[in-house]
Amino acid sequence: MKETVNGPGAQAGAYDRPSASFDREGHIEVRASAAMSCRRALWYAATGHEPAPPDEASLTVLETGRSLEPVVLRAMQRAGWEVAPTDANSPMGVVLQLTPIVKVTGHPDATGTPPLFGGEAVIEVKTRGPAAFRRWQTLGAERSHPDSVAQAALYTYGLFGEARDAVIATMDTAERAWDHEVIPAERVERALERTREWLAPLGAHHATHGANPEALPDRDFEAGSWRCNSCPFLATCLPGDAEETGTDEERPEVSDEEARQAVAAYVSAREALREPEGAKRQALGTLKAWMRHQGSAKAELADHTVSLVRSTRYAVDHKRLNALLDAETRKEIVTEQTSESVRIN
Ligand code: SF4
Repeated sequence: MKETVNGPGAQAGAYDRPSASFDREGHIEVRASAAMSCRRALWYAATGHEPAPPDEASLTVLETGRSLEPVVLRAMQRAGWEVAPTDANSPMGVVLQLTPIVKVTGHPDATGTPPLFGGEAVIEVKTRGPAAFRRWQTLGAERSHPDSVAQAALYTYGLFGEARDAVIATMDTAERAWDHEVIPAERVERALERTREWLAPLGAHHATHGANPEALPDRDFEAGSWRCNSCPFLATCLPGDAEETGTDEERPEVSDEEARQAVAAYVSAREALREPEGAKRQALGTLKAWMRHQGSAKAELADHTVSLVRSTRYAVDHKRLNALLDAETRKEIVTEQTSESVRIN
């Protein structure tokens, strides 16, 4: 079921292989980091369609992520973790036979053990912008980034041949702060099963059609989704959308000049508000100090009633919640609402 591969042969292009390919024994080989991505995109990669090269901005994001991985691992070591990073010059590869036809290959970032107790676990390192970092902390990786959990599960089985706790370590690229989440072994097992279920139809497709580049699997994502908009095969799969990646949502027509005027109106309104807001804050600070000194919560002053209002906020420890509950149960408790707004800086 599992093999490990390392040494100089594994070095060349270890991180830049296509996301899927065929081998001589009739398997389709899928890269672990792409295991939960669109199956049509995997088919395009395996049948030799040329992916669009990443643009400058995407390359910078990719390189930033790679260069920060050792930084996260060193921070974990300083926090008492025993960490064995993968040698970037000779990465240890894992090969997992997921179904009779689908093999998954990849290179774990590291293995390690937590400071106080626990066995050796796969550590999957990720870097996220502040919004994605917060979303991960709040929802847990199984909800926010299931691809990462699948990856960690594949490496766990590839390295140890069994389900074990796996660790997702993530750095907030804005704050340069890191945190980690332990995915318990039974949930690692479920993540592996989900990945197997996802990839099995691709294996069946290969068994039926061979390596036929024209026999495309169905699309897994819809035009306009972020998956399609960032897909390197977008121009091949949805030619019309490569130029126009918006949604069908009705949008009022606004000219560039009207947009410029809106920014100017917003900035001048914000400036007009800034001074009185500052004066209000200062006055309230003075009154708070006075009320505290008086030791009373309510006072009549200059024809006004001044009250010292005390409120209590309740915080949820998402890390403990995520460790205790599986993703389905968390979904019923931590719900997500999405809204749109415009911010001008
Ligand atoms: S454009 Fe969308 S549907 Fe087509 S291959 Fe890419 S992710 Fe899949």
